[in-house]
Amino acid sequence: MQFSELGLDRRLVERMDHQGFQQATEIQQQAIPVAIAGKDLLASSKTGSGKTLAYLLPAVQRVMKQKALSKRDPRVVVLTPTRELAKQVYGQLRSLISNTSIKGMLILGGEDFNQQSKDLAKDPHFVIATPGRLADHLEHGHLYLNGLELLILDEADRMLDLGFADQLNAIHKAADHRRRQTLMFSATLDSAVVSEFGQDLLSAPARVRIDAE
Ligand code: ADP
Ligand code: MG
Repeated sequence: MQFSELGLDRRLVERMDHQGFQQATEIQQQAIPVAIAGKDLLASSKTGSGKTLAYLLPAVQRVMKQKALSKRDPRVVVLTPTRELAKQVYGQLRSLISNTSIKGMLILGGEDFNQQSKDLAKDPHFVIATPGRLADHLEHGHLYLNGLELLILDEADRMLDLGFADQLNAIHKAADHRRRQTLMFSATLDSAVVSEFGQDLLSAPARVRIDAE
């Protein structure tokens, strides 16, 4: 299936075209329409199957379509288990939002906390972060999540393995309102920890599972 058949904005389909991507991967085919429809999603597919674009494309589309963006709060937060992964996601986001007025920010552990707090005050639409550092900023009142529309957990199983459950819960609670949509990706959906966690964070999620071909 082509990107043009998934309900994506023409500008995003053109971006994919520029990168030489016409054909959506299986997880993208399944996840993108669910995400665009505003439903919560719990999804798994193997490494290298294109999960990043499966959530970034609908997320960017959602922000693109908004005319008036209110001050203060990020629209979309993406959480990843590691700094390296967050950087990769941020790179993909940058190429999707170049030449738009959408702002994205990378918030990583181990970097200048005060500088990050100043950057957060500039009201980015997207925040890509590791959970520990984002929870710290939340505690210090450097960002508010009451306007958050989309919370994305990439490699949720690894975040839980690394002991981030409390931070993830704090972020979820700060953004716990009816309008919020949540997309959760995990290498496995079978783990009890993941499914229990999903029950707390997701509301009537669509489940997508792409097994190895
Ligand atoms: P995952 O998170 O599932 O491990 P990634 O999102 O990191 O996978 O994507 C793996 C690679 O596949 C990246 O280099 C990405 O640019 C590429 N990719 C993503 N979607 C497509 C597509 N539709 N066609 C071709 N390559 C793609
Ligand atoms: Mg990934």
